[in-house]
Amino acid sequence: MKIVAYIGAAILIFFGTIMIWGSFDPVSGNTAWLPVGLVLLGVGLVIIFFASRRKAVDPTTNVTLNVDLPGNTKMDSMKCNSCGGVLGAKDINMVQGAPMVTCPYCHTIYQLTEEPKW
Ligand SMILES: [Zn+2]
Repeated sequence: MKIVAYIGAAILIFFGTIMIWGSFDPVSGNTAWLPVGLVLLGVGLVIIFFASRRKAVDPTTNVTLNVDLPGNTKMDSMKCNSCGGVLGAKDINMVQGAPMVTCPYCHTIYQLTEEPKW
């Protein structure tokens, strides 16, 4: 679903940029394209903004994300399944509803399998 939003936004931004460029073309340009291009570009950016807000990149959403993770209290002592490196909360990302670990030491990516505390 998010991928569809990104593709749609990319198409909107692509055509929006072309129309804005085209409106400045002195030969075949039409200034009426400029507002249309700006609207397309704006809608595309808004879609990307809302689609990306659901990711863990935003520090404000990170706070609520960490609370939702299972076994959160043991997060400080978590170790990488591959290399044994200590993992922090910043190494956990939510991917399609599942907590995924990205090890900063060996760069292994795997699903978090820690036992839930309930
Ligand atoms: Zn590792």
